[in-house]
Amino acid sequence: MIQIENLTHVYPASRKTPARTAINNLTLTVEEGQFCILSGPNGSGKSTLFRILCGMSLPSAGTIRIAGHDLFKEPGKARAELGVVFQSPAVDKHLTVGENLRLHADLYGLSSSLYAERLSEAMAWTDLKDRLNDKVDTLSGGLARQVELAKALLTRPRLLLLDEPTTGLDPASRRNFIEALHKIQRERRMTVLMTSHIFSEAEDADRVAIMKEGNLLAFDSPQTLRSRLGREMVVLQSRGAVVLEGRIRADLHLKTRRHGDEIRLEETDNGASLPILEKLLAAYRDDIDSIAIKQPALEDVFIHLTGPQKSDTSENGEIQ
Ligand code: ADP
Ligand code: MG
Repeated sequence: MIQIENLTHVYPASRKTPARTAINNLTLTVEEGQFCILSGPNGSGKSTLFRILCGMSLPSAGTIRIAGHDLFKEPGKARAELGVVFQSPAVDKHLTVGENLRLHADLYGLSSSLYAERLSEAMAWTDLKDRLNDKVDTLSGGLARQVELAKALLTRPRLLLLDEPTTGLDPASRRNFIEALHKIQRERRMTVLMTSHIFSEAEDADRVAIMKEGNLLAFDSPQTLRSRLGREMVVLQSRGAVVLEGRIRADLHLKTRRHGDEIRLEETDNGASLPILEKLLAAYRDDIDSIAIKQPALEDVFIHLTGPQKSDTSENGEIQ
């Protein structure tokens, strides 16, 4: 459904900033019907890629095909397949929910009968049924996001793009939104590409792409990504983590990674975690605030691949 080949985007130098490569030779294919999450630390190039996919900006080099149509040579055909939910609100908050949806349907030339059908579909999965005549600015953040999604789905796109759609929502509204999205995606076999910082949102995805500084570091199923870190890892917290990490390495010859107050021992062989935990406790009990054995989650894979943030550099933070 999306074929990105050798995509590069360089923001030209200005008087204040040097030229910056936001996307570096990216090649990626999203199959029809997949739910794909695009993640990566700030500055990875996610929003740049999103803008290019929506047809809002042109890349420096490379090709993109959407449902077989070349996005740059046949932009109209490619964009006809797309629905988009932006991070910032794209509905008119002074209009009612119904007026916003109707306006969008009119822009796309939906007939009245088709609009009525799609509206009733939307009312079935949203909590907007009693709110159609309310102005959008009277809705909660979660309901306002539902309006955005309902709007993007009115035209029944085969491909839905969303840029951090749950930012700013409380956990319950976020879960509602993601659950509704997954349900609709499965029912319609719609393809979804969504950027997100929130790893719990990526655990149910079919594919997760992890980017850093314009490069694609990984693109796989959550299960395959997690299995890269083995079955278990030992994670400990210490206020003196910098010093303690040095001692663990020198005394016990173990491989560590540090992120702030946290020290991780990722490459423990199957069954080796418990003896390692016991050894650490025996040697450094007073320096350890907490210690646990855990199964890697997607967030751990992300930390493993993208390393510490610039403000928190461990000497051991190289990307492997
Ligand atoms: P993300 O969405 O992953 O945080 P962005 O696509 O916004 O990443 O940014 C990728 C890189 O491109 C960053 O280094 C950022 O500073 C740079 N960048 C983004 N937008 C512009 C712009 N309009 N002009 C110049 N540089 C930009
Ligand atoms: Mg962004």
